[in-house]
Amino acid sequence: MTNSIGVYPGTFDPFTYGHADITKRALDVVDNLIIGVAEHSGKSTLFSLQERLDMVKEEIDKINIPMGKNLQVKTIDNLLIDFANQVGAKIIFRGLRAISDFELEFKLCIMNRRLDKEIETIFLMAGEKYQFISSNFVKEIAALNGDISTFVSPEVTEKLIKKFKGEKKCP
Ligand code: ADP
Repeated sequence: MTNSIGVYPGTFDPFTYGHADITKRALDVVDNLIIGVAEHSGKSTLFSLQERLDMVKEEIDKINIPMGKNLQVKTIDNLLIDFANQVGAKIIFRGLRAISDFELEFKLCIMNRRLDKEIETIFLMAGEKYQFISSNFVKEIAALNGDISTFVSPEVTEKLIKKFKGEKKCP
């Protein structure tokens, strides 16, 4: 695919090694990848939009981007399909973990196809080590002072520790 553009949307609350793995795989498929950080995702987030944008940018700085590939981070504050059209993307990337992801992803894919049949959703599976990582689990473990070092980077770990310390101070 020449000059192909894809969007990888998500909440990234926080950005995990699972997200990094999907990002690298998506870059193998398209030339230009935009990580779309959702402002409103229907989920309440631990990190603000600005914090998530900064975090994703810091984390992707560590990714080895192959020659001729381009990776950017943008806010999604509208309908995903409208965002994809704005940035000229014909592909939406989503990650699939266990069967539990399938039903929601299936519905989203069909809905998005109804909204714009020109935009295709491609599902990627993370490498074995990363398949079970979810931002929610990471937050739950971090809140209880568990070891999250195999799920997120040391910098993200630090941010989570600060958040939970801060939360305890002001109940
Ligand atoms: P999460 O689902 O972890 O709360 P997001 O909403 O930010 O996080 O996820 C964005 C996309 O990344 C979704 O398509 C999700 O299924 C995918 N994803 C997240 N973690 C993984 C993982 N470990 N393996 C594969 N896909 C993943």
